[in-house]
Amino acid sequence: NTRIVLASRPQGPVKPDNFRIETVPVPAPGDGEVLLKILFLSLDPYMRGRMDDAVSYAAPVAVDGVMEGGTVAEVIESKHPGYKPGDIVLSHSGWQSYALSDGTGLRKLDPDAAPLSTAVGILGMPGFTAYAGLLTIGQPKPGETVVVAAASGPVGSTVGQIARIKGARAVGIAGGADKCAFVRDELGFDVAIDHRAPDFAEQLQQACPKGIDVYFENVGGAVWDAVFPLLNTFARVPVCGLIAQYDGLDLSGKDRLPALMRDILKKSLTVRGFIQREFIDQRPVFLETMSGWLHSGEVKYREDIVDGLTNAPEAFMGLLKGHNFGKLVIRVA
Ligand code: NDP
Repeated sequence: NTRIVLASRPQGPVKPDNFRIETVPVPAPGDGEVLLKILFLSLDPYMRGRMDDAVSYAAPVAVDGVMEGGTVAEVIESKHPGYKPGDIVLSHSGWQSYALSDGTGLRKLDPDAAPLSTAVGILGMPGFTAYAGLLTIGQPKPGETVVVAAASGPVGSTVGQIARIKGARAVGIAGGADKCAFVRDELGFDVAIDHRAPDFAEQLQQACPKGIDVYFENVGGAVWDAVFPLLNTFARVPVCGLIAQYDGLDLSGKDRLPALMRDILKKSLTVRGFIQREFIDQRPVFLETMSGWLHSGEVKYREDIVDGLTNAPEAFMGLLKGHNFGKLVIRVA
């Protein structure tokens, strides 16, 4: 059994000596277990985060532990009533050629339904990420402009194609001419832009003459810098990934944006601006409810009343410094 373990945690970008290749005996299944032969191992950006000893939505890989990862495997020996040799399963067996499983988290795959590797790609975690993130948070509508980076990869390529299916314009961002040609000509995005071009930000602006309605965030960094000035009012930004800042970027610097974006992502924060007028149809209910709360004493209020209109300028300047205490009102007459 060949396996790849985390030899040490990266200091900055990952290096080859953070990994170690080991050869160990193939394990024998105990009661209730199956022995899996790994056919495909998925490599995904999130694995970089698992190499760090940082609090995340999932535990880090232990030093000397097998690198984790999604896998497609064949059952070659079974002491589990639900599986027999020859069964093909989706598992999370990590970077190794054989693994034991007690069945937890295994899902049987139909080898005739689709090529097996798609279970860790378009029909697996990345495809589902694109589908769920775009449709739940992005909610693209016909005629809208959807922008996504890493557009030739499993998530981005799927985002753009679903956007097109939903009648939106898809603008893909990718690295280099070959990837851009693929995104445009094979995947059918309306436009593809190379984020390494010196005039990338201008090209993006030209590609989005009506602004951006959905930005599916996969990368962060310079791409986000070019995107956010183009966002339209009521634009949606599913924050899915920030690969530009995964590999050793120091998030404690003076620029707090990378750390904020990381927290928005890993804590699934909803950050939505609003101007109260957009909710104006709630006002009748508000008036009735708030009047009731005032009447019952459940809600209190405090006013800071200043006499005389000519005192308004000074009172107003004080408001900006915190000199008022409660709702500032001028008694004019
Ligand atoms: P990809 O296979 O597309 O690989 C990542 C790509 O990102 C690279 O090929 C590269 O493409 C691009 N990239 C890397 N660095 C930069 C950079 N500095 N600026 C711009 N682009 C860069 O990845 P996936 O499709 O698997 O994942 C895409 C994103 O989705 C990742 O951020 C990942 O972490 C995230 N993700 C999030 C999930 C979630 O549940 N939130 C689940 C799955 C994925 P190019 O050469 O075109 O620039």
